[in-house]
Amino acid sequence: MSILLGLLSLVISIAVPVLIMIFADFQLLHFSIFFIIPAGAIAIGYACGFGFFKGLIISNKKISSKHFIIGILMAFICLASIKYATYHLTCVSPETGKIEYKLDGNHISNYQIDGYGRMTFVNFNKFMIESTPITFSRRGSQTLGEVTNPTACWVFAIIDFLGVFIGVIAAGIGIKDKHQYCETCNKYKNSKKIFKLLKTDGQAFFDELEIITNDISESTSLKQIIEKYNGKVKTGDAFLECTLIYCHNCKKATLSFKLFEVTSTNKVKENSEFKYNVAINYNLVRDYIKEIAA
Ligand SMILES: [Zn+2]
Repeated sequence: MSILLGLLSLVISIAVPVLIMIFADFQLLHFSIFFIIPAGAIAIGYACGFGFFKGLIISNKKISSKHFIIGILMAFICLASIKYATYHLTCVSPETGKIEYKLDGNHISNYQIDGYGRMTFVNFNKFMIESTPITFSRRGSQTLGEVTNPTACWVFAIIDFLGVFIGVIAAGIGIKDKHQYCETCNKYKNSKKIFKLLKTDGQAFFDELEIITNDISESTSLKQIIEKYNGKVKTGDAFLECTLIYCHNCKKATLSFKLFEVTSTNKVKENSEFKYNVAINYNLVRDYIKEIAA
């Protein structure tokens, strides 16, 4: 499954930028924000890695460094393929003498450029990188300056290439972080965001949770407690976000909490240092899942 989805996303990540280039004359790979953030390249890399890492989750394979190496290899194939497809499609219009992207035109390899020689794949890419004026622009229209320095061009090109690798790795880390692996059963646990709890209600909620977890004869259900505290968080409140994580196989369940606090600029942001997990009785969770599904 991971191989299939990996190949699919690799093909998509190559085909989409090439098609955009043919039909819109736009190089997605070299699209950046604020001059240097290679947004287009990161997006291509993310698309390239997404299917592969998602496939690993679906097929219950634990994501390890080996998979990141495969991801980097995929990024390399993706990048080389886009560059090769671009070269293959680059033609010179006989009327205007400008570059156009098509299959049946007058191919660039029929040309020579002083200082670069015949336009082979390598020479062509070298020429394209070193001769592309890099325009610093703001809000699209207002040009601030141009760079035609070959060294600067290489730096920008390398940043774009790195963007593809960053995109693949970001896809892998993002997907890995969202899924917890059960080492006992060799499969991914189920995970579900269930509710937001006011920070000021935290202690009261945990006390009630402790009572039902310790005393199985207690008649209150998990759903009843959650409903009591749910729906009280308003915009601008500090809160705890609760995710239910469980493994059906070994019957283990945890409630995992993230803390969102009000910053000095009055924004609510996650406090990344806070982590709180409570193990809870699996039977409570099983009943809860049944109740919310009903
Ligand atoms: Zn398990």
